[in-house]
Amino acid sequence: MKPADDLLHFIGEGLTPVSEIDVRALSEIYEESDIYLSIYLPTASRDDQAMNDTYIAGRSRAVTKALDGELLQDFERTMEMAQEYISHAPVNGERGRIIFASGSMDFLHVYRIGVVPERALVLDTSPFLLPLARMRDDYEDYAILLMDSREAKLYSVRSNVVKVEGSDSIDLMNRHKKGGMSQMRFNRLRRGAISAFISDLVEDIEAIQANIEIRGLVLAGPGEAKKQLLEALPLDLQNIILGVVDISIDTTVGELLEVGEKITLENERAEERNNMETLRTSIMRSYPAAYGAQQVRDALNEARVNVLLILRNASIPGWICERCQNIRERAARPEKCPYCGGPTSTVDIVEELYELAQRTGAEVEFVTDSEFLDSLGGIAALLRY
Ligand SMILES: [Zn+2]
Repeated sequence: MKPADDLLHFIGEGLTPVSEIDVRALSEIYEESDIYLSIYLPTASRDDQAMNDTYIAGRSRAVTKALDGELLQDFERTMEMAQEYISHAPVNGERGRIIFASGSMDFLHVYRIGVVPERALVLDTSPFLLPLARMRDDYEDYAILLMDSREAKLYSVRSNVVKVEGSDSIDLMNRHKKGGMSQMRFNRLRRGAISAFISDLVEDIEAIQANIEIRGLVLAGPGEAKKQLLEALPLDLQNIILGVVDISIDTTVGELLEVGEKITLENERAEERNNMETLRTSIMRSYPAAYGAQQVRDALNEARVNVLLILRNASIPGWICERCQNIRERAARPEKCPYCGGPTSTVDIVEELYELAQRTGAEVEFVTDSEFLDSLGGIAALLRY
């Protein structure tokens, strides 16, 4: 499908969180010929940037040799469009850049991201989304609440970019009983101050949730205050706590980010293990599950997939019919599709199934390390029915 008019151009001036890139819309874009260029570059250091130039020059020479006629002209036009954005200086906090371009479609997307991608330059029938997909799996947005009994600061973390979302304070421990005030009145005031503090925090957390889909909340700070908060939180917020960490209230944002990343990665791995356990049980008890490229493709086409499970480094060579989307894994590519006579191209089946999952609204989970998933062909799905 051609990109819609309002999707033709996106040039990120500042950082774009990877979670904000519209992979669903990008996955809808494909043509019958290889006109979509995808570039992934690390941009954090000068060394990176110098190596990018060498890499791009080498890769584009190689691709040029593999093309002729109209496709070659097309590719040259596309490279011209992209070139300016390949060598642009990085903005503050930028550690990587993603470029999707097609000269013949007048299509150009440039994303500056806070995450380091592996270098890649790919020319294909559609934007190459798998590297972005893996980053989105590892860098889901989350929030950190750093607090003690007197103050609290709430941060959002999106692709390594930390932003203060709110700060609240009370003066609990120093609220000395004033002369003449009864113990009861003092206790009432104290309780009132605590509950006002907590409802301010709850409001701040809910304000983040209203704007971004967060994986959860890391609760950090010294002493008991965070535990008291945890007990007082409404149940739906208790359920999103990713971890509770003892840490100084003066912790720097950089250190906070490290702590947060450790906790969210642990959480991500635990989620992977859970999904793999569900898959194992499903297969043993004959609950709805699919594995291997063909079964998974059929289940995706019928919109029966709840969670698509992909082994992180999986790559399944095969071919796809660009017209009817018929796929075959580990098979020599026929000139024409045996079903509809449409043009075929050599693909990584994993990329195709990921795009299909995006188009059909299935959740995608990359699994870091699993012999079991490997033995099933690197790809499987938990099904709705
Ligand atoms: Zn076909």
